[in-house]
Amino acid sequence: MRVCLRDLPANPSSAHREGQRARAAIERAREQVASLVGARAEDVVFTSGGTEGDHAGLIGAAWALEPRGRRVAISAIEHHAVHGAAEVLERSGFAVEHLSVGPGGVVDPAAVEGLPADTTVIAVMLANNETGVLQPVAELARRARARGMRVLCDAVQAAGKVPVDFEALGADYLVISAHKLGGAKGVGALVLRGGAPCEPLFRGSSHERGRRGGTENLPGIVGFGVAAEYAARDLSGETPRLLELRVRLERGIRAALPDAVIHGERSPRLPNTVNVSIPGARSDHLLMSLDAREIEVSAGAACASGAVEPSPVLTAMGVPRELAICALRFSMGRTTTSAEVDAVLAALAESARAVRAAGASEQP
Ligand code: PLP
Repeated sequence: MRVCLRDLPANPSSAHREGQRARAAIERAREQVASLVGARAEDVVFTSGGTEGDHAGLIGAAWALEPRGRRVAISAIEHHAVHGAAEVLERSGFAVEHLSVGPGGVVDPAAVEGLPADTTVIAVMLANNETGVLQPVAELARRARARGMRVLCDAVQAAGKVPVDFEALGADYLVISAHKLGGAKGVGALVLRGGAPCEPLFRGSSHERGRRGGTENLPGIVGFGVAAEYAARDLSGETPRLLELRVRLERGIRAALPDAVIHGERSPRLPNTVNVSIPGARSDHLLMSLDAREIEVSAGAACASGAVEPSPVLTAMGVPRELAICALRFSMGRTTTSAEVDAVLAALAESARAVRAAGASEQP
């Protein structure tokens, strides 16, 4: 990306030689990204990230398929970006169906059979961003195809962590984001299965073959390409390595905190994500206590003006509120080591003890 900023200052749409060098860098990145997810380079449309990809895919497909119906479906555990895109559609008169999940956090593909016939697109993610639970997208897409419905798959969390094969998934639209696989923030891609109907969200210029107007983020895209190439190269070693770390972390948590609940424990999951509730230790308090020990985790609950809201994903899985507000998400990556996992386990035990003790002393 640094080399690109220094040596490729031209606009990739310019016809002169410098512009064409910039264009060539984008096309190389397009091939690298396509190769990570088993797609054709010409089907990759660069975006500003996963949020735009989800919007461009869901709204663009719904618009293009409007003559067939004004109804879309999304799973209850989709990322906010997909919920947001569905809200945009709802405001312009589209109906939105929601596919529920079982206690394991998995969407039932048979739910497709119950959707009204005028449903045109179904959005189901490949891996949930909070629990890491993997979804049966291929089976769902098979059923959707039989009913003439299209499938959008948000693979933002999955790409680079588990193999993603666009062909085998059978989805029509796939969304990925660079910063989840080692690239920069603010760049991603929407992959359209050859000719999948999709109206552009950004218009007015012919970038990305008329599928997304706007001058390309050249350094971001070039970095995304390199990150995708590294992720593809290292996947076969990284997936089992991360899985070993996840098992180590989960075993340690169970040993130190026997009443801890690991969400989606029995479901197929990403190798790098652990979402755990420690009863009696609110996640926002635990997060701060761990942060003070230089351990960065994510709280499954959003805290707005002092009121803790349980995660909609855990709520959709039937997790009771008292437990959902104690959910913490640990994510591991390429640089995580087993020594770090052990350090986290030691810190977590201490933090949990301290937070529970503080909570108990607050009780009337
Ligand atoms: N979809 C999922 C599943 C995500 O986890 C995220 C981000 O965390 C997004 C979409 C949004 O991607 P971006 O941050 O690139 O807009």
